[in-house]
Amino acid sequence: MSEEPVCSHLDEIKVTELPSPIRGCEECLKIGGHWVHLRMCETCGEILCCDSSPNQHAKHHAAEVGHPIVRSAQPGEDWSWCYVDEVAFVSRR
Ligand SMILES: [Zn+2]
Ligand SMILES: [Zn+2]
Ligand SMILES: [Zn+2]
Repeated sequence: MSEEPVCSHLDEIKVTELPSPIRGCEECLKIGGHWVHLRMCETCGEILCCDSSPNQHAKHHAAEVGHPIVRSAQPGEDWSWCYVDEVAFVSRR
């Protein structure tokens, strides 16, 4: 495992800019759920909740819609995570 982890889905990144204001996880808002941390899908820009949240909408979005990469939507955090490659990285435009 000495190889540097590389995400092979970088061409799926269409949106890197966070919306403003961020209202919360769009799926949780629909069902009245709550979330721990927020992520943004970098393919469609939807705000979703993290794997520590009860509904894990970011993970489900990746599995169901097939958008592999999310980024943190937490203030001051700019890392991305690929659910397919299970690798974290910082995307630079
Ligand atoms: Zn990937
Ligand atoms: Zn959610
Ligand atoms: Zn998406």
